[in-house]
Amino acid sequence: MVQKDAIVIGLGISGCAAARLLAESGYSVTCFEGESHIGGSLFEDIRPNGIRVQTRGPQVFHTESENVYQFIKRFGSFFPYRHRVFLSYRDMKVPLPLNANSLKTLFGEKQAAALLSKMESSFPGEKRISVDQLINCHDTKLIDLGRFMIENILTLDINKKAGSSFAPADDSYSNDAYVDTGSDDCYYTDSIQAMPMQGFMSVMEHMIDHPAISVYLNTNALSRISIHQDNSTVLFDGIPFRGPIIYTPSLDKLYKYCFGALPYRTGKVSFQDIKTDFENDCAVMLTPNNNDTVRITESKYMTLQNIDGHTSLCLESPYFSASRGYTEPFEPEITPESLELYGKYVTLAKECQSIHLLGRIACFRNLSIGESIEQAIDVISRL
Ligand SMILES: Cc1cc2nc3c(=O)[nH]c(=O)nc-3n(C[C@H](O)[C@H](O)[C@H](O)COP(=O)(O)OP(=O)(O)OC[C@H]3O[C@@H](n4cnc5c(N)ncnc54)[C@H](O)[C@@H]3O)c2cc1C
Repeated sequence: MVQKDAIVIGLGISGCAAARLLAESGYSVTCFEGESHIGGSLFEDIRPNGIRVQTRGPQVFHTESENVYQFIKRFGSFFPYRHRVFLSYRDMKVPLPLNANSLKTLFGEKQAAALLSKMESSFPGEKRISVDQLINCHDTKLIDLGRFMIENILTLDINKKAGSSFAPADDSYSNDAYVDTGSDDCYYTDSIQAMPMQGFMSVMEHMIDHPAISVYLNTNALSRISIHQDNSTVLFDGIPFRGPIIYTPSLDKLYKYCFGALPYRTGKVSFQDIKTDFENDCAVMLTPNNNDTVRITESKYMTLQNIDGHTSLCLESPYFSASRGYTEPFEPEITPESLELYGKYVTLAKECQSIHLLGRIACFRNLSIGESIEQAIDVISRL
């Protein structure tokens, strides 16, 4: 039998899923990860009190794809989970995305009814209205609601201190940027929402635990892999490599920033351990009135850990722009200009048939965990 070789660059969830799928398709897979650990955006740590925390902020598995759920469940058991996010505004706490209940609490019954009716006539048949739609419509009350959301809810994405403004072309905003005209308090709408019993790190470790997978940590893949000047050949340690290369970091690095650096956003996260059972009423709280911390996550709600008398909070300040070699991009900063720049790199990458882009950073798209796995399944099945 002829040995088939493949390379995976970056071991976040996309790289781990791809490595496993390649190994199960008969490839011998060599994986490179720049950090001293796998996990990427989904990396987790254990606090001194034993509580497992996600080091880049809250992340929940949600998907509409039974196929994706069946795949991830092979590597750990999951429990059903309903994610609840609240906005703490003055002395009120209201569910996000804003819904009929939140509008009632924030603005009173009469005004809430008027806003819902205006949304129904301005956007007939639409259950979720985006902040973009609100600020660009003709109704002054709805425009005001959109402004309220920008000012008080989208604070993670918009760094007011840095003076950055709301960019309507940016599709990387989360569910926070919508108003749900119903009254379900759940943050996500997907039919499958779940969390891993032992955490995402355990799931990813099991994924790459396969005899055909070799892992090299602390290895900048680009010290071993480069594109030949013909643009169509990949060199591995200077020798042409013909097998598939799954590439998950930012694409500008692969081409030595020849068209300029792609913009990404990143964030600052810190932790606080407190001696109490629970500090907040829900997993995630947005706190726009707090200068530095705009989102607080209480991890215990998301891990089901039974640790009495202790809790840990994850505190996040607003995201800021970062590019050029930054090792921890959280999300692409999507604007018409950045998409044009990204397009130039994609055109180059298409000349090289062995390179396959995967995941949120390499594809410059706001993909979820579920979508990243779905993409890996699709790409590997077409090799
Ligand atoms: C704050 C935050 C909240 C989120 N919330 C959710 C959520 O609730 N639900 C959801 O479904 N999704 C959520 N997401 C999205 C989800 O985390 C990502 O889609 C997913 O983790 C991306 O995985 P990835 O493997 O594509 O990229 P990454 O996790 O970024 O992995 C890329 C890997 O490449 C490595 N690398 C980079 N350069 C090199 C190099 N030169 N050589 C070798 N390795 C390299 C990096 O170290 C990293 O490990 C969230 C993301 C963030 C940032």
